Amino acid sequence: MPCTFIRLAGCPLRCVYCDTPQAIPLDSGQTQGFETIIKSLPAPKTPVVLVTGGEPLAQKNCISLLEELVPLYSHVQLETAGAYDISNIPKAVSIILDIKTPGSGEVERNRWQNLTILPKNTEIKIVLTDRADYEWAKDVIQKYDLINQCSVLMSCTWGSLNPKDLAAWIVEDNLAVRLQLQLHKYIWGAEETGV
Ligand code: SF4
Repeated sequence: MPCTFIRLAGCPLRCVYCDTPQAIPLDSGQTQGFETIIKSLPAPKTPVVLVTGGEPLAQKNCISLLEELVPLYSHVQLETAGAYDISNIPKAVSIILDIKTPGSGEVERNRWQNLTILPKNTEIKIVLTDRADYEWAKDVIQKYDLINQCSVLMSCTWGSLNPKDLAAWIVEDNLAVRLQLQLHKYIWGAEETGV
C-alpha cells in the first residue's frame, strides 16, 4: 500500500542487523517544525503515513507530531523499537511494536510493560536471526498471549536467516503468525535506500 514515511533521526539502540544505520545519529536529520514537516508531505496524500526512525519515541515531540497527523490522514502508523512507553500514543494511531530478540543484541531494551497494554490494532514485529531467536520468540508470544491480542509478524535478518527455514518452522508449529519479508529488498535490491 502506498505509504509516506516520516523518518525521525536518532536511535539509542544498536541492533546488530540495523538496516537504517544512517538514521542512528541524532544529527543525521534536520530540526523542522510540524508545519514544515506537514507541508513537505506528498499531495495527494497516500493512504498511510508512517512515523518511524531511528527510534521515533526517543524524541519527546513524537507524540505531538502524531496528534497533528491524526486529523489529516485516515491511517497513521508508528513503528517503534519497543524500548519506550507506548501508553500515551493517540488511540487512532496503529502501532507496529518491535520485540528485540537475544540475537539482536538489544534484548535488554524491551519494555515488557508495553506488552500488557497493547491496543487491539497493534502489530508486533519480531526480527529473527536464527532458530534460537525463533524458540525464544515463541515463548514470549505464549507468555504474553500475543496471538489473541494482536497481529504477530515474524521476519528474518537479511542474509542471516533463510525465509524458507522460517516458513517451515511456522508451518510445522502451526503458529498463527505472519511471515513478513522485506519486500523493498526483493524489489529494489538490498542496498537501495529511500525506496
Ligand atoms: S531500533 Fe531500529 S533504528 Fe535503532 S538500531 Fe535497532 S533496527 Fe536500527
